[in-house]
Amino acid sequence: MFIKTFSPSKYNTYVECNLKYRYKYIDYLKDEYNKGLSKDALQFGSYIHKIFEDGVEAKSVDELRRIARDLRGNYHFKGRVQDIETCIKHFFEFNSKLEGSVSTEMIFEEKISDDFSLNGIIDRVCKSKNGKYLVIDYKTSKREKTKRELYNDPQLLIYALAMSRMYKTPVNNITVSHYYPLTGNLVSIKYLPNQVNSFAKKIQDKKWEIRKKKVAQFQPKVNRFCDWCGYKEICPKHGATNREINEALKASKFGRSKSRGSKG
Ligand code: SF4
Repeated sequence: MFIKTFSPSKYNTYVECNLKYRYKYIDYLKDEYNKGLSKDALQFGSYIHKIFEDGVEAKSVDELRRIARDLRGNYHFKGRVQDIETCIKHFFEFNSKLEGSVSTEMIFEEKISDDFSLNGIIDRVCKSKNGKYLVIDYKTSKREKTKRELYNDPQLLIYALAMSRMYKTPVNNITVSHYYPLTGNLVSIKYLPNQVNSFAKKIQDKKWEIRKKKVAQFQPKVNRFCDWCGYKEICPKHGATNREINEALKASKFGRSKSRGSKG
């Protein structure tokens, strides 16, 4: 299957489960096949991101609270009043200490070979007076990742690789981080150039792996995120029949009306 871009979520989806990748990026199925799945956490995360984006210049916590009130009606989740307040207070304190904001919600597309690009949206990029970059990804989960986990985080590796090419700066000038507004903590690391280079090679390997695959070869891989998968009800590993799968594929505007077992 042809592929010419990887975003962090596209890459992660492929690594996590090939069938999920197929449903999402080849068949363009909406991830609405899991009735037990609550969208509250996603909506809460989007809401907090939007407050931080619109409130990046806020001069007080009250101004952030006003922005939050104005936006609240656009997002659909229950409760979490105290969490919103905690995020706002922590963010105001954190944001006021950051220097040299280059961009919020920075959309990027960076070629890494003639026919392949990395793309995505980076929550925040700052540049210090001495030319060092700080890349921040806001995370609204309560569990923080460790530094060790960040060293193997494809999202941050993609950011480091794209940033170093976009700004023509060495990888060791770039600090990548997760900011957790619920706890107020920033977990940050720097990659060594060889870590980013070997990840770049891994990306090219995955690209070719996908390009060589026929659609029927995108197989399900049961993993710890299956309960949060928006395609669980059309997953053969979770009891879906060929008929159910075909119906979902037919209903998709772009989907293929073939079952997993058929040739694509
Ligand atoms: S439920 Fe699990 S195995 Fe099935 S498509 Fe989703 S991630 Fe893959």
